[in-house]
Amino acid sequence: MKIGFIGLGNMGAPMAANLVKAGHDVTAYDVADIRVEGTSAAGSAADAAAGRDAVITMLPNGEILRAVYAEIVPVGAPGSVFIDCSTVDVDSARAAHAMAGKQGLLSIDAPVSGGVGGAAAGTLTFMAGGSDEAFAKAAPLFEIMGKKAVHCGDAGAGQSAKICNNMLLGISMIGACEAFALAEKLGLSAQSLFDVVSTSSGSCWSVNAYCPVPGVGPQSPADNGYKPGFAADLMLKDLKLSQQAAESVAARTPMGARATELYAEFVAGEGKGRDFSAMIERLK
Ligand code: NAD
Repeated sequence: MKIGFIGLGNMGAPMAANLVKAGHDVTAYDVADIRVEGTSAAGSAADAAAGRDAVITMLPNGEILRAVYAEIVPVGAPGSVFIDCSTVDVDSARAAHAMAGKQGLLSIDAPVSGGVGGAAAGTLTFMAGGSDEAFAKAAPLFEIMGKKAVHCGDAGAGQSAKICNNMLLGISMIGACEAFALAEKLGLSAQSLFDVVSTSSGSCWSVNAYCPVPGVGPQSPADNGYKPGFAADLMLKDLKLSQQAAESVAARTPMGARATELYAEFVAGEGKGRDFSAMIERLK
């Protein structure tokens, strides 16, 4: 396939590299002039998108996505599929679909889970929103860049799934940190609590797979000085998106709101640039 790839940051660069490795013809563009080996460098986003079978974007936020789509949609080839893998607000995702739809292009919002490690290993999970036809056309590319793609529904459903998942993750990580901080004060070892929780009803990914205490459970950023991993700043971004979405549909998310406040305080203080599980130090 002839693929245009726009946004070659921490996630986009390894994703584009995996498409090259799989034999695709990738033309890539990043405003910061980042180059990825094996791709042809485009001079602009429009240049990367014109005449391609698929155009993938991996950008920082919804405002930038809308600006880039305004540039690339008019040059999209008829029948091509525009796949946005960025994490953005649901409204921007739907606006991007609407722009593509007006031009007769197929479109998918397909944010990812799995982080930089998953992007490099080609083991991301994609959560996709869009038509069956668009999903079918994008699916072979998801297979290369990821290990699983879930078609969640129509336009915006991928972003909705992503922010609901990550709101739950933020809440559960704070819960895990609170439990381990309380255990320490009660004189209970972190290892004992892990052994109990990981096989009991408090079991969750934040404990079982990503324990915030060093030396306990499988290898995680806690064992590496809380180097991300999943940066607290990105968790805060996703929590804010969840609150924006909740407000737009009058959903009550009191725990999501509190998690957003706690991560905002953490990032404004010692948490910037650290893994989101370092929250445990603040709670201790
Ligand atoms: P990043 O900041 O490393 O990369 C974004 C890239 O977009 C940068 O290289 C930037 O120069 C480029 N860019 C900005 N404006 C542009 C424009 N107008 N045209 C072309 N390129 C432009 O961010 P990242 O970590 O790669 O994340 C990308 C997206 O993936 C974000 O939406 C993020 O929330 C999401 N995400 C990140 C992770 C993670 O662990 N890093 C995990 C899941 C999802």
